[in-house]
Amino acid sequence: MANALTDKLSRIVKEMRGQARITEGNVADMLREVRMALLEADVALPVVRDFIARVKDKALGQAVVGSLTPGQALVGVVNRELAATMGEVDESGALKGPADINLAAQPPAVILMAGLQGAGKTTTTAKLARHLITKRKKKVLTVSGDVYRPAAIEQLKTVTAQAGAEWFPSTPDQKPSDIARAALDYAKKHYFDVLLVDTAGRLAIDEALMKEIQDLHAILDPVETLFVVDAMQGQDAVNTAKAFKEALPLTGIVLTKMDGDSRGGAALSVRAVTGAPIKFAGVSEKIDGLEVFDAERHAGRVLGMGDIVALVEQVTANVDIEAAQKLAAKVKSGASFDLNDFLAQLQQMNQMGGLASLMDKLPGQLAAKAGQVDTAKVEKDMRRKQGIIHSMTPRERAKPELIKATRKRRIALGAGVQVQDVNRLLKEFEQMQDMMKKMKGGGLMKMMKRMGG
Ligand code: GDP
Repeated sequence: MANALTDKLSRIVKEMRGQARITEGNVADMLREVRMALLEADVALPVVRDFIARVKDKALGQAVVGSLTPGQALVGVVNRELAATMGEVDESGALKGPADINLAAQPPAVILMAGLQGAGKTTTTAKLARHLITKRKKKVLTVSGDVYRPAAIEQLKTVTAQAGAEWFPSTPDQKPSDIARAALDYAKKHYFDVLLVDTAGRLAIDEALMKEIQDLHAILDPVETLFVVDAMQGQDAVNTAKAFKEALPLTGIVLTKMDGDSRGGAALSVRAVTGAPIKFAGVSEKIDGLEVFDAERHAGRVLGMGDIVALVEQVTANVDIEAAQKLAAKVKSGASFDLNDFLAQLQQMNQMGGLASLMDKLPGQLAAKAGQVDTAKVEKDMRRKQGIIHSMTPRERAKPELIKATRKRRIALGAGVQVQDVNRLLKEFEQMQDMMKKMKGGGLMKMMKRMGG
């Protein structure tokens, strides 16, 4: 589905080519697709409406800069606005970096965890403990106020041990408020920096339990009250978030199970409904599966475009368009593709920021495939190839068929490689030459066009 959307958007981007500004007319189709994408990603309808209105407002009449097309410019606006909606912006409207936990309190800084049962509260409590120990060098105590499920208390004990934090015992016959007071007291006496309080799970919003967590909040006076929510919950997340926001002064959100196949639209809705910043994303069941939430990166996921936007921008910014066009024209005209052209292609790959940086920006499935590639090795290999071509004479580069045994030995010596490396390069060049003949339109230009040029 994500791919279908990318295709749709890039088709529209293409249709918008050649138009100088973003107008009501050329923007309508594209915004319709964006709206569908957001709804498919489970963003709540009022949030979608509001979002589309803001994008329209920002995009309309915007002059299109440089080599960007209106389509590309609009993708840029959508992406930036998505990131701004999910992240935090400063007074000038610029996106602030990801927010970490606030610990600005007289120690122990108390962090209260709230959310439905199964949302991932206990797991996240341990992950946070781990984060605070490894990244912030804090001494961390955890305690469970879930007196309704003895298994939950045991679970916290187990995962706290995995995190390398200390666990404060509690039992089902205690009152949660007594547990809270005792844990706070213990944390103070033993100089803990942070006390993490896991609370009773709720299967659904339940008044008695809401009252209980409000009491805990009053006793503990936490510096952070984190609402933990399952990203797979989709639309339901909105109602849950509303209820928790009404009951508690939330200071942050943790979105769990972001490794699932949800498109992560809950991030937008929950952020909009609570007004609280999304601080962390849970990305696996493991103890280290917690990431500081990065709105910019998440925006691409919601639109199902990976970082294709950044890729488009990077490509348009860095590629020597003229050289690419020249090459394309040459191939189209039927002129032969020689080693000079091959070298130019290798160099263009470098200019785009290297293979690793390009691969980082590929959307979903492609990225998974790319992840299996050892980019360092590939880049080293590309440098070696360039070295080999550089040690050829101009005549050899223009007429590769001249390169026989003696020349190969000389070239290998000059580039500091083996003769078989030269052979391999020539073989690869021949394959590329074949491919170029078939593609006619020219490799790189075609690729760039497909990405919305
Ligand atoms: P609680 O009832 O809110 O305390 O939820 P738990 O911490 O017990 O988590 C419920 C289930 O979700 C457990 O099986 C966890 O392993 C799983 N879980 C929690 N966070 C994540 C996450 O970020 N990714 C994945 N894949 N699973 C998670």
